[in-house]
Order: sequence, then C-alpha cells, then structure tokens
Amino acid sequence: MSSSDMKTITVVGSGLIGRSWAMVFASGGYNVKIYDNQPGQAAKAITEIRKQLEELEEAHMLRGDLNATQQLALLSSYDDLARALEGAFFVQECVFEQLEVKQSVFQDIERLVGKDVILSSSTSCLVPSNVFAKVQNRSRCLVSHPVNPPYYVKLVELVPHPETAANVMDTTHAVMTKVGQAPVCLKREIDGFALNRVQAAIIAESWRLVQDGVISVKDIDLVMSEGLGMRYAFIGPMETMHLNAPEGLEDYMKRYGQGITRVLTSFGPVPDFFSEGAKSIINEMCELIPSDQQHLSARIERRDQLLMGLAKLKKDH
Ligand code: NAD
Repeated sequence: MSSSDMKTITVVGSGLIGRSWAMVFASGGYNVKIYDNQPGQAAKAITEIRKQLEELEEAHMLRGDLNATQQLALLSSYDDLARALEGAFFVQECVFEQLEVKQSVFQDIERLVGKDVILSSSTSCLVPSNVFAKVQNRSRCLVSHPVNPPYYVKLVELVPHPETAANVMDTTHAVMTKVGQAPVCLKREIDGFALNRVQAAIIAESWRLVQDGVISVKDIDLVMSEGLGMRYAFIGPMETMHLNAPEGLEDYMKRYGQGITRVLTSFGPVPDFFSEGAKSIINEMCELIPSDQQHLSARIERRDQLLMGLAKLKKDH
C-alpha cells in the first residue's frame, strides 16, 4: 500500500472512545469516517466533537498542526457500514465491550474491505485471539488499546494476534506516532495486556493494605498521588530504579533486590472485592467522595482539567 492510499481511517462505534479516536486521527491530518449502528449517532458524534474542538482551540490545547475548522472538515458520518469503509486503509473498532458484538462487527467489516486493510480493536479486556476468532485473514488484525481520555493520555498498547504480521504492527505504530499518541508493542497477547496487569497489581496491594488496617483509603491514595505518581508521570519503574542507585539498575538490585523480594513474598492472596470487608472499604471511599452523580462528575471534571494541565506540561518538556 502506498502512502497516498493511507489517508482515510474508519472509526466503527461513536461512543466515548470512538469520538476520542476520531479527534486524535483528525489531529494528525487523516480523513476520518465515523460509523455507528444507531442511526443518527455518528452525526451526533460530530456535533459533540465540534464543540470539543472549539473549546480545545480556545484553551490552546488543540492537538496537531491544523485548526479546529480544518480538523472538522476531515470528519464525516455514516449510518451505512459499506459507505463508511470505502477508501479506508485502517479501521478502528470502538463498539460495546462484548465479545459476540465485536466478533460479528469484524465479520461484517471483513466482508466489505480489501485484504490489506488493517483491522484494529479498542478492546480493554478481550484478547485478540478471541476478538478476531471469526475473521478469515487474521494477519492484519491487532488490538490498539487506548487509555481514557486518549486526547490527554497518549499511551496506546498494540497487542498482536498470534497470526498478526510484523508489518501490521509497524504500520500501526507509525500511524499512532504520526497522530501524536505514544504506542507500545506487546510481543504476544496476554490477559490484561501490560497496563491493566500493572494496574491490577497496584489495586491488589492498595486494597490489602487498607483491608489489613495498615493504612486508610485517603492515605493510600496519597502514597500514589504525592509519591510514586510524581515520578511516574515522566519516568517508569525501570528508569526510576536505574536512577535511584549511584551505578544504575544492577547496583540498585544489589542494594535493594533482597528487600524487594522479602516484601513481595509477604504479599497476601488476591483480595475478595465482594466480601463484607470490601463494603467497609467502599464506605470509607464514599465518605471522602459520595458516589452520587453530582460529586462524581465534579471529581471527573477536576481529573480531566488536571490531566489537561499535565499533558501541557509534558508537551513543553
Ligand atoms: P460506548 O458505550 O460509549 O460506545 C459504544 C458505541 O458503539 C455506541 O455509540 C454504540 O451505539 C456503538 N455500537 C454498538 N454496537 C455497534 C455495532 N454493532 N456497530 C456499530 N456501532 C455499534 O463505549 P466506549 O466507552 O466508547 O468503549 C468502546 C470500546 O473502547 C470498548 O471496547 C471499551 O472496552 C474500549 N475502551 C474504553 C475505555 C473507556 O475508558 N471508556 C478505555 C479504553 C478502551
């Protein structure tokens, strides 16, 4: 496929993530065709995107080299899948997180596109061999798992199906880089990919420490937000260790490796998130932030504002 054929991307499913992908791809100059199986939904998505692009332009946070009007001109909406797929070299699926729905969507898509078109799924929790089980030519399939909200949190995990061709991973990596995302490649599929596995480890130990009466919900969150998280916004755990001993990682392990091993062997079993004890942890959280819509929405807005500021800081460094 020549680069002149690689101008159009189809986004299938126009919910939260579909709209975000459409904005990200348009910011990189791609024509983006948006399809949703709910009639009128894709058109509504563009109205919503217009509002967001105008606000981002106003806040000087618009991504890419094009202005909001130019980016909007790259978007089009479809209620018909065949028309939405015409001319696309890359399809990003963003439908409900249900295996049967995704499998049947990919079957439909495969019938309508050429054999070189890359089929990419946004799934958070399903492994590629299940998502693409009903696709005939699986060498062009992969998962491109974004993090919410993708406009500010740029990581994309590229996860291959066992049959995915190397050039499909490379092309997707190049597309994601071109649009300003930060792609990482998994070498093989694994449940939870990388991000959710690391996140699960953090959740498990945080939960156990609260459950065992070692620390409060409020304070374990501070351990992350005022401690580990300060570094992790810029450098990961591997570089953190490398920099935390005078002679780098090997030296770090000489100094701290045994201590880490000792602590790791003291970790308890997987917590029971549904027990009576779990209820008291949930109550403790809800005393800090009640779980009604008003309180949650206010905190979500605060989170997104802070992420926007952090994204700006990262862009400037
Ligand atoms: P959503 O419910 O907001 O949107 C799903 C959209 O898909 C809806 O507009 C729906 O009408 C449409 N749809 C459903 N079936 C369809 C079909 N057969 N054909 C076309 N359109 C169809 O969901 P979301 O939060 O945008 O999530 C989409 C995907 O992204 C999921 O796989 C999810 O796991 C993944 N994801 C979500 C997040 C997140 O934080 N929300 C983060 C990373 C990945």
